[in-house]
Amino acid sequence: MREFSIGEWQQVRDGIWVVQCQPASVNVGLVVGQEGVLMVDTGSSPAQGRELARRAQELVGRPVTHVVVTHAHFDHFYGLAGIEDVVSIGHENLLQHLDGTNDPDVDPEVIRRDLGFDPSELVGPSDPMVLIRAVDLGGRTVEIVHLGNGHSDSDLFVLVADQKVVFTGDMVETSGDPFVGPDSQVETWPKAIDGVTSNARPETLFVPGHGPVVGIDEVTQQRAAVSMLWSTAEDCIKKGMTIDDVVADLNGPREVDWPFAPQSVANALPHLYRALEAKGVTKSRNLPLLGL
Ligand SMILES: [Zn+2]
Repeated sequence: MREFSIGEWQQVRDGIWVVQCQPASVNVGLVVGQEGVLMVDTGSSPAQGRELARRAQELVGRPVTHVVVTHAHFDHFYGLAGIEDVVSIGHENLLQHLDGTNDPDVDPEVIRRDLGFDPSELVGPSDPMVLIRAVDLGGRTVEIVHLGNGHSDSDLFVLVADQKVVFTGDMVETSGDPFVGPDSQVETWPKAIDGVTSNARPETLFVPGHGPVVGIDEVTQQRAAVSMLWSTAEDCIKKGMTIDDVVADLNGPREVDWPFAPQSVANALPHLYRALEAKGVTKSRNLPLLGL
């Protein structure tokens, strides 16, 4: 069983709070209106979700009324089952992931052993969405948007326009490289980030799924890194490099310049290669014509 804990609420802006939760160092957010209280993500188990809702009510003096799940991974999603009497919003693809098998690191047996509950307890959002949803919390409207897939098959951004705060889920991570898994769609990921940064102001704050709150420059840098990850993998395939060749280069001469740490690249490679090969990217026949 992994160690569960919830940190202290940190105020981001007026009526907006973040708390970090273990075992996955996930950020859970709180947006407080005159009437409603909206929680962003739910922690890693029903028990943790229940405790987060209790801690939120303790902070605000009113119960949580709305919950948004930014995507289907365990540390964001699995707490939802412990939070009662709320309107819960998530991408409709979450409903396909109630068996606990979607997450790259978590299968049903691991859930029982490490997270301490049975995956049959999982529940989906009461109010599944596809593209956009607005929630009026009283004096404050929260917009929830799906701008295409990137990190997962169910990525949502949560925007609080009056305070210029954006919750990104794992579309942005600042504690390490963003995670690329079997359900990631790296090709469309940068474009989805553009959807929020193109409307952001210099003072906009971004709350990532993991790691410290950042400004637009860090998000733009990460967007560029994700884009470069995709194009570099494409170049490697065109040069005729296999995954083993790339890993050997990562561990040795490092002739290929990657935007992520070697371990992150090695983890992402099978998913990048599968997606690129499915698009028909193959070794280029022209490359041996050196200098021409
Ligand atoms: Zn994730």
